[in-house]
Amino acid sequence: MKFDFSQEVNLASNIVVRQKNIGVFGSTGSIGTQTLDVIRSHPSLFKATVLTAYSNVKLLIEQALEFKPLAVVITDKSLYPKLKEGLAGTEVQVFAGEEALEEVAALACFELMVAGIVGFAGLKPTLMAIQTGKSIALANKETLVVAGDVVMKLAHEKKVSIIPVDSEHSAIFQCLVGEEFNPIEKIILTASGGPFFGKKPNYLVNVKREHAIAHPNWSMGAKISVDSATLMNKGLEMIEAKWLFGLQPSQIEVVIHPQSFIHSMVQFNDGSIKGQMGLPDMKLPIQYAMAYPQRIQNNFPRFNFAKSSPMSFEPPDMKTFRNLGLAISAMHKGGNMPCILNAANEIAVFGFLKNRIGFLDMTEIIERTIAEIPFIESPTLQDYFDADEAARNFAATLINI
Ligand code: NAD
Ligand code: MG
Repeated sequence: MKFDFSQEVNLASNIVVRQKNIGVFGSTGSIGTQTLDVIRSHPSLFKATVLTAYSNVKLLIEQALEFKPLAVVITDKSLYPKLKEGLAGTEVQVFAGEEALEEVAALACFELMVAGIVGFAGLKPTLMAIQTGKSIALANKETLVVAGDVVMKLAHEKKVSIIPVDSEHSAIFQCLVGEEFNPIEKIILTASGGPFFGKKPNYLVNVKREHAIAHPNWSMGAKISVDSATLMNKGLEMIEAKWLFGLQPSQIEVVIHPQSFIHSMVQFNDGSIKGQMGLPDMKLPIQYAMAYPQRIQNNFPRFNFAKSSPMSFEPPDMKTFRNLGLAISAMHKGGNMPCILNAANEIAVFGFLKNRIGFLDMTEIIERTIAEIPFIESPTLQDYFDADEAARNFAATLINI
């Protein structure tokens, strides 16, 4: 019997596409601005109803005037008067402060949160959005690194989808569509190797902020760029993958693939491997997470096999990039260890970005903090907050901030 394609066309044209209201948390950052690019290109599909920023009030005002959200939040309270003044005469409601981030995350005016805040600061608003039933397009990997068990359990209870935006996890998520009942043998996270791929400690000892944030394939915020340069980013992503996909640490592998064309792979129990490919452009996983389960048309540049450079793969240099090993140990140890690692890393990266410490000092700060802060095997959410604070305070004393 021949398949009647006209039926499929009819079915497809009958799908009613409803506009989704989006809360863009961290709208002034790399993920946030690219999310707004996607919204701008698909005004019938998406509407930004919440925008938030830490301190870039100028850009937040511009965004609010363009997208006309219902609410905006500036976390730095001292900038409230400026924001209020910039949006005078509009109907946009203006809020300020950390608590306001959580309050706005609870509002019913959006159904999907793009979690684009960087670092531990993203945890509380994301938990609140899950608590109040929103779907999460998750870029903020630190949320899962710090408290993955709490976040995933709450999402399960509230029947909330967490759709990854991180390109590797989006790749794995896409490979798993249609494979719900097939056991995963392992996943293979690809890593570009960052700007210092192939370099040794005698070179790294002298590198500075401007070298570290110049990523060869991706344009990202400063913190994740440094994490990519130290390979800590890949370690954080292993922990993120463990929680997102319910894997054992032994099922998660990393391979260096400097061209960043294959975004990650899944190996199933029959040995078959599925990967997801494309040009390195974060707008693609952002758009996929926002439109899921649909794929929507776009005019992004397409990959050309005939013109592409050869693809290569090799194991990571764990001797030089020791942060990756520290993250892997923290993943194996579990409990509050990844939370301590994350806090120490945030302070170390901050110190490096401010030129207070050298590139290799970051590893030492993390090692010393891990050795200092008490380990808790089965932490509560409060234990995570406490461990984060203690680790930050201790790491800060090591770099005099
Ligand atoms: P970024 O520094 O460019 O932007 C961060 C955003 O968060 C900004 O809007 C900033 O105002 C806000 N913010 C910063 N500190 C805050 C605080 N304390 N409280 C409230 N808001 C705060 O960062 P980014 O590169 O867009 O990364 C955002 C997240 O997405 C990170 O967790 C990162 O690991 C993840 N991610 C980013 C990329 C990328 O390509 N940029 C890729 C994968 C994952
Ligand atoms: Mg990534």
